[in-house]
Amino acid sequence: MTHILHRAAKVVPPVAVSGAGVEIVDADGRRYLDASGGAAVSCLGHGHPDVVAALHRQLDALAYAHTGFFTSEPAEKLADRLVADAPEGVSHVYLVSGGSEAVEAALKLARQYFVEIGQPQRRRVVARRQSYHGNTLGALAAGGNAWRRRPFEPLLIETHHVDPCFAYRFQREGESDADYAARAAGALEAKLVELGPETVAAFVAETVVGATAGAVPPVADYFRRVRRLCDRYGVLLILDEVMCGMGRTGTLHACTQEGVAPDLMTVAKGLGGGYQPIGAVFLARKIFDAVADGSGAFQHGHTYMGHPMAAAAALAVQETIARDDLLANVRAMGDRLRLRLVERLGASPHVGDIRGRGLFRALELVADRATRAPFDPALKLHARIKREAMARGLMVYPMGGTIDGRRGDHVLLAPPFIVTEAHVEAIVDRLGEAVEAALRSV
Ligand code: PMP
Repeated sequence: MTHILHRAAKVVPPVAVSGAGVEIVDADGRRYLDASGGAAVSCLGHGHPDVVAALHRQLDALAYAHTGFFTSEPAEKLADRLVADAPEGVSHVYLVSGGSEAVEAALKLARQYFVEIGQPQRRRVVARRQSYHGNTLGALAAGGNAWRRRPFEPLLIETHHVDPCFAYRFQREGESDADYAARAAGALEAKLVELGPETVAAFVAETVVGATAGAVPPVADYFRRVRRLCDRYGVLLILDEVMCGMGRTGTLHACTQEGVAPDLMTVAKGLGGGYQPIGAVFLARKIFDAVADGSGAFQHGHTYMGHPMAAAAALAVQETIARDDLLANVRAMGDRLRLRLVERLGASPHVGDIRGRGLFRALELVADRATRAPFDPALKLHARIKREAMARGLMVYPMGGTIDGRRGDHVLLAPPFIVTEAHVEAIVDRLGEAVEAALRSV
């Protein structure tokens, strides 16, 4: 009996009672190796003593103070740290409680920026298909997942979508990366010209696509071209690094690997590692200046923004990652994970692609490797893989993405940054068995 509306309304999931390191334990004593960090959240694993101690200290000192009255030491220290290590041009951060809130705030900052600088006609948002930006109405409008949008379509703000840079699905045979980057960015330019660029406020994109298509990195030069287009047409570039950011791909920010800096950038998940709900928007100086020198305040706000407990957790998580040089482990174990996935599953006739960066990796499953045709969506292969994995004590994040309007099957891996080679072996062994068992069942 439950009184919670769970994700699958009629299915009550196992009751999680404790966690340590890379494992979660349920009420029946079953242990689960957390190979997905939940949804790419738990970057330090569970029960990290330094984060727990920081939270105890903050709770003893002060749990909450409203930002309408006060700032707090952990929030200020966190902001100092985030800005010090931010992409070029970032001068401030806006602290919220999660990814969707961060995307909403970024969209509204983009809009307010143009109102402040006297371009109120800029109101449209351009985003990409096969993308996820959150489930609140603004973030959902930006997202390109047809299934998630469908029931709410009449409520969504005007957003226009172009194809993402998704080599496995859209790069043509024989097309070089450079040509594909030009073609994929060209789709954005065509859309801006079609809409009238002077009506567009922002282009929103995940630097490495996460929840809808499964760890899809762009080809080299795509984002440099996007950056140039945004500059040429006066459109703000919002990078959504809620899932791929804060070290997940092996550098603190995924955009560093693309050689671009955003005007606005969202992070969440790995920022607080799940120890508290927290997200942030990074603002380039021109956005801050327009608001500060214009009306003087961002016309927005949430009761729990800048929450001292959340800030203390994020600060401790980020200090621990830096102190223990865990991004070096993300890169080393990420390479190892990719290699072992290729060895274990690369020859499977139904594993179409193994991709990603750092400890952000995915498998794409296909009915036919030659044509890359997805499985019949009714089979829900991704959900079967999740069930088989959970039965083997393994957490992986399955997704039915959207490919040309059809659902495809992906499995996302995003283990904690503290994984060892032994953990990588266990993940790949159990995942290999789970995938094979699920494929036998369809
Ligand atoms: N943006 C991206 C890229 C995400 O992956 C997510 C969450 N999966 C969100 C936004 C929304 O974050 P939240 O679930 O914390 O609201």
